[in-house]
Amino acid sequence: MGSLSYQNGHIHHNKAYTGNFLIEDPDQVLDTMGISPPPQYLEKMREAHNLYPMRTTKHFLALAERRLDDPIMLQVLPNPEELKEYPHLIDDPLGEENHSPVPKLIHRYPDRAVLLVTSRCLTRCRHCNRKRLWREKEWIITKQELREVEEYLRKTPQIREVILSGGDPLTLPPSWLEEIMGRVSYIPSIKVLRLGARLPVVAPQLVTEEMATVVEKFRPLWINLQFNHPREITEESRRACSLLQKAGAILGNQTVLLKGINDSSQCIKELCYLLIEMGVRPYYLFQCDLVKGVEHFITPVSTGIEIIRSMIGYVSGIAIPTFAIDSPKGKGKIPILPNYNLQFEKEGVKYQNYKGEWCLYPEALTPS
Ligand SMILES: *Cc1c(COP(=O)(O)O)cnc(C)c1O
Repeated sequence: MGSLSYQNGHIHHNKAYTGNFLIEDPDQVLDTMGISPPPQYLEKMREAHNLYPMRTTKHFLALAERRLDDPIMLQVLPNPEELKEYPHLIDDPLGEENHSPVPKLIHRYPDRAVLLVTSRCLTRCRHCNRKRLWREKEWIITKQELREVEEYLRKTPQIREVILSGGDPLTLPPSWLEEIMGRVSYIPSIKVLRLGARLPVVAPQLVTEEMATVVEKFRPLWINLQFNHPREITEESRRACSLLQKAGAILGNQTVLLKGINDSSQCIKELCYLLIEMGVRPYYLFQCDLVKGVEHFITPVSTGIEIIRSMIGYVSGIAIPTFAIDSPKGKGKIPILPNYNLQFEKEGVKYQNYKGEWCLYPEALTPS
């Protein structure tokens, strides 16, 4: 990994690091796979690629079947649908830029904040809610920015947890990740470090002993991954997860509910069963954010509710994620549960169980 240089916050990467490991040409993907869509489609696909440049890894693409509507292909190949404009879809639907007290830090909730350490990702998910960052030159947080973040964290001691995100923090050379996490964790009020990463899914071979050594220094480090489809769980990703776990990482998973990719009970159940077999706790199932260029992935909110309804009671509790909407305009993540008709009556609390049977939990009874 020594071929990146952390100088002025921009990334200088050369082929020694990426080799022919990354795939960034959609035409080449189609050629290799022997898929030939009509010319109008190709033209629009290239337009989408110009707007939101494609990138994925050999590993991830190798999981795809040779068709445009394959769940892996849909996550990585530019799509003509991304060009459509809708009034309710915007570049920054979570209002992150309005909740940024200093550059690179998003502080929305009282006790925790998100730190964007790099814009770099090895796979640019077409559904990404930070697609807007792809237009900028790739960056890594500068030392100056990090100093400002540290200063803000020191004077805001109610923040007790920092969540490293981006981009993908695990794309940083381990020694830089160590430096950043070291500086943040040195602040007395910071008690917990978490990071969000997709590298163990899309490039599990890059989860190295060197990375594990860094993770070990910050144990317990909470790491949330993003497996979206059962097919993403491979021998290699299992090995990567296990290496991180041995180093003391506590692994969770945040799946984005995506139309045509994973929007069925069967798919989410299978995914969550595989996750708990690996010791990865399904954490969130997200309703897709209202990001410009992702309309074709958005499911009705009722789809997520019905998926969760089909799991509660029927599937091991540890396999059930919290279905959540990350509210527009930065109003926060809110869990959405199926309605069990909870009623507060004189005799107690009434509700239906997972089979629809009425239950009574007696409350406030007078002693006899
Ligand atoms: C998602 C998010 C968090 C973390 O929320 P949890 O519910 O604790 O997982 C924190 N800050 C921001 C700005 C977020 O978007």
